[in-house]
Amino acid sequence: MNTVQIHKHKVDSILRRHPWVFSGAIITETEDLTDGEVVTVADHKGRFLARGHYQHATIAVRILSFEDRPLDEDFFIERIGNAVELRKKLNLLTKTNTICRLIHGEGDSLPGLVVDFYNGVAVVQCHSIGMYTSIASIAEGLKKAFGKELKAIYSKSSDTLPQRADVKDEYIFGTCETPHIALEHGVKLNIDWVTGQKTGFFIDQRENRFLLGKYAQGKKVLNTFCYSGGFSLLAIKNGATLVHSLDSSKKAIQLTEENVALNKFEDKHGSIVADAMDYMKDLPEDYDIIVLDPPAFAKHREKRHKAIQGYKRLNAHAIRQIKPGGLIFTFSCSQVVDKYLFTNTVIASAIEAGRNVRIIEQLHQPADHPINAFHPEGEYLKGLVIQVD
Ligand code: SAH
Repeated sequence: MNTVQIHKHKVDSILRRHPWVFSGAIITETEDLTDGEVVTVADHKGRFLARGHYQHATIAVRILSFEDRPLDEDFFIERIGNAVELRKKLNLLTKTNTICRLIHGEGDSLPGLVVDFYNGVAVVQCHSIGMYTSIASIAEGLKKAFGKELKAIYSKSSDTLPQRADVKDEYIFGTCETPHIALEHGVKLNIDWVTGQKTGFFIDQRENRFLLGKYAQGKKVLNTFCYSGGFSLLAIKNGATLVHSLDSSKKAIQLTEENVALNKFEDKHGSIVADAMDYMKDLPEDYDIIVLDPPAFAKHREKRHKAIQGYKRLNAHAIRQIKPGGLIFTFSCSQVVDKYLFTNTVIASAIEAGRNVRIIEQLHQPADHPINAFHPEGEYLKGLVIQVD
């Protein structure tokens, strides 16, 4: 096994169990290393620090273990078992909730790996070549953790590893027809990991959708950036009188309409295909509740300033036009925009709109998207519920 040695001044973050080694911290030659290979990380004197997956990239090593142990099948069986155990202990999979994120990368000490579970089917998404190379062990870990409850495993990493032409999206255990029906808070959802965005569904908004349900009784709701309509469904299930779902993608609106029909909610629902930024400038109707859940406006630090302007404009449009006493559920999933910056941006929107705003709820990612305490970068989803007087 190859060893990469770290600059004397760069070991502290590893001793604090941060799971990334940046390429600039490495003092040994790395040219001969292969993407995805397991390497030992050592200090400048050659003393063991950690073990992980190497890749020729800014994040050069993703650390999987701070103990001197092999990263073999037993390792994956243990880590995956541990992650699944946590979800079971937290009672996240029930009769009415059959959707859950099983592995959330660094949050489950498996950097580079995401696994989502949809009513018996695990969808694996690798963000590093090392994880893709370990897929057989990952499959074993999932099978051991679930036993007969696991019907199929679908490997979907061609989007996340575009640099590798040999990455195939395929079933690596069993098969399952799509769309496959799964439940969130008792609402039925068609999940299609083969053709859908990411692993097929945005699981991270589950608890925030539930909260919208709590406030939706008798309300008229506009759900922007709706994708497959999760927020809309929870609102209708909980007594909203009318919900309009908006997305710029026709395909997303089609998914939403199929989900609405699956639950027989058609009489309470309308859809709009439009650019949300444009549409929000001048709303043709009044709403009691508006949901703003845009895609990450900033994927990198350099884009942060522009992203903030985008969030500010979007929120100002909503604050200006919502009915008096109305609620806005507003989110950002840009990792580089932290909760303080996001809150300040929404406050700036309120100032611009010239209306009185109260922060009612502060929202974040759910328990199946845990944040590794030594990797604060894992906190990405933040939201507010604001009331506009
Ligand atoms: N709220 C969704 C997830 C949103 S994902 C849920 O609960 O599942 C972001 C969505 O925004 C995608 O469906 C994408 O098609 C849509 N989108 C991206 N840019 C947009 C724009 N300018 N206007 C409207 N929708 C947009």
